[in-house]
Amino acid sequence: MKHIAAFFLAATVLLLPLHFAQGWGFWAHKQIHRQAVYLMPAPLAPFFRANEKFLIDHSVDPDDRRRVDPTEAPQHFIDLDRYGKYPFATLPHNYDDAVKKFSDSTVKSNGLVPWRIAGFAAKLTQAFKEKNRSDILYYAANVGHYIADCNVPLHATENYDGQLTGQKGIHGRWESEIPERYMKGYEQMYSNASVYYIADKTEESFRWALESFSLTDSVLACDRNARAGLQPEEVMTKTTDSKGRERETFTPKYYENYKRELGNMVERRFEQSSLRVASIWYSAWVDAGMPDISGL
Ligand SMILES: [Zn+2]
Repeated sequence: MKHIAAFFLAATVLLLPLHFAQGWGFWAHKQIHRQAVYLMPAPLAPFFRANEKFLIDHSVDPDDRRRVDPTEAPQHFIDLDRYGKYPFATLPHNYDDAVKKFSDSTVKSNGLVPWRIAGFAAKLTQAFKEKNRSDILYYAANVGHYIADCNVPLHATENYDGQLTGQKGIHGRWESEIPERYMKGYEQMYSNASVYYIADKTEESFRWALESFSLTDSVLACDRNARAGLQPEEVMTKTTDSKGRERETFTPKYYENYKRELGNMVERRFEQSSLRVASIWYSAWVDAGMPDISGL
């Protein structure tokens, strides 16, 4: 019996889409939530600030879940280009219609992030209605993660790690290495943008995913430009990690070039992610009838 279960688990894992991109790195996810907390408008600000640590610490829970739950991975992305050409008009934004048209397994393996955001935003609304403190925090932390992922350009394309264009590893370079190398001083910079009400969470999430997709060409072109004119050894270098294993890493020179080519794209996406996380938190509370949560 045990063996059968193990076999099915292994089979399920093997059948999963080979899409294991991280989403923003841990550092960026945490900073996005930190900034979102500071964008919350007056009636909600005290609650969110009082629970800032929880919201930051749990911003990466959905990525941890992927290690134990085989259904989790497709919740973090949507490969829009598997549905034809931009703006992918063949894909219904209503989940049931999409499944009817493309089948359950296709829709699942192509990624679910816009629907996941809408589903978790609805759960957050329910938690606000019930004034259920732990549910509010759980769903706020979780929905924030998916919103941030949806705003990462490479979460909207089949070529999610540059694997189809000879640019493997671009995912981590864009969303982890660039923020961690160049945005550390960013912690103290809070955007003064205002949260906005989002009536249709699915539509809005699709808009973000489309916007992400439209940036993928630049993400890849900037990488090619960053390497142009450099010798292979100026792009990659061999280093030895703490366990004595030799691995190839990109050089500081490459990152300097890549950052210059990208300009402020990563920072802009980071800012938009924070504003959109705060806006979904706020909208879920409006949908719940703006309950007074000051005593929670
Ligand atoms: Zn993720």
